[in-house]
Amino acid sequence: MKINGNYLNLKESYLFSDIAKKTAAYKTAHPEADIIRLGIGDVTLPLCQAVVDALHTAADEMGKKETFRGYGPEQGYDFLKDAIRDYYKSEDAVSLEADEVFISDGAKSDLGNILDILSRDNTVLVPDPVYPVYVDTNIMDDRRIIYMSGNAENGFLPLPDTSVDADIIYICSPNNPTGAAYDKAGLKKWVDYARAKNALILFDAAYESFITTPGLVRSIYEIEGARECAIEFCSFSKIAGFTGTRCGWTVVPESLVYDGVKLNRLWLRRQTTKFNGVSYPVQRAAAAVFTPEGRAQIKENLDYYRHNAKTITDALDKLGIWYTGGINSPYIWLECPNDMKSWDFFDLLLTKANVVGTPGAGFGANGEGFFRLTAFGDRDRTAEAAERIVKLLG
Ligand code: PLP
Repeated sequence: MKINGNYLNLKESYLFSDIAKKTAAYKTAHPEADIIRLGIGDVTLPLCQAVVDALHTAADEMGKKETFRGYGPEQGYDFLKDAIRDYYKSEDAVSLEADEVFISDGAKSDLGNILDILSRDNTVLVPDPVYPVYVDTNIMDDRRIIYMSGNAENGFLPLPDTSVDADIIYICSPNNPTGAAYDKAGLKKWVDYARAKNALILFDAAYESFITTPGLVRSIYEIEGARECAIEFCSFSKIAGFTGTRCGWTVVPESLVYDGVKLNRLWLRRQTTKFNGVSYPVQRAAAAVFTPEGRAQIKENLDYYRHNAKTITDALDKLGIWYTGGINSPYIWLECPNDMKSWDFFDLLLTKANVVGTPGAGFGANGEGFFRLTAFGDRDRTAEAAERIVKLLG
């Protein structure tokens, strides 16, 4: 028996454990310190009432012989797929067929699982800085990875370089960690590039619900030609606080054909073989997100986080600090002042303002000198943190 030795090529991710260790050490040395954490990517508001009611009702159904459900369709129940299709139609004017939507237990799983149907010979193009899952899942399969540079000059929105050949392209918009979001023109360039190279775009739309600026793209299928070159991943985690409830979806258009084969067929085969679907109560809960009450309630939660983001960006504006994100994203990606390195700035904020953020260097070489703050915290605590930052750096 041999192990998959590619796992030994994975770099240990020390980012969040290092943050936790440093924060704990500081707290031990300064027990009186009132530390505010703006480093987490997890949400803090509870599920909205419409979702909780749907969970209760579905739990009751599962407890009665007449309404009990056993195995469901691996691709998800029609009631949820139809709710998602309606969401695309109303928000993005995108029409999807029922067979093109696959319900998952979250975007992270499918972002990893999709690689099952793609050859290991493909070259992968990922942005730097990057959500680490894109890199690690490809290292596990020993695919060749090349990087495209996100930087202050391109607003952390790299565009294609036609001299570079790639087969699989990861695009995350609005982006984690940078909060930057592509407009139609930018994404059209990526779609054109992918089609010219016969490449596939893996489009991560986990943060689409934060977009408010007209002209920015919520779904890649708003771009002409994307149905021929892109798979889209999305999640209820950030739309509706499902980080602990677990539900997402993946769109694989029927028109995606490579090597003469429909990717939709391969993905269906993969899912029906290796996945037994998301639980009925969770799918009912997810469908409740798209009811009129659910939509009104999640809007309140999203507005709460948007308000936090504005509190943080107002502070940065006051200080004249350059940043991306915060407007169409829960992440604020700022340039560390005075040419500081990411971890030095982390130490400064921790020790002098008792505020914890995430050093950009943890997301790739291009993250050095940058820093991520999140809007997922408590409103009053975020305001307090912003005040402390202004006081420290002002
Ligand atoms: N994609 C991005 C860019 C993320 O930041 C995250 C979570 O933080 C995910 C996907 C994972 O989403 P899920 O909770 O649906 O697995």
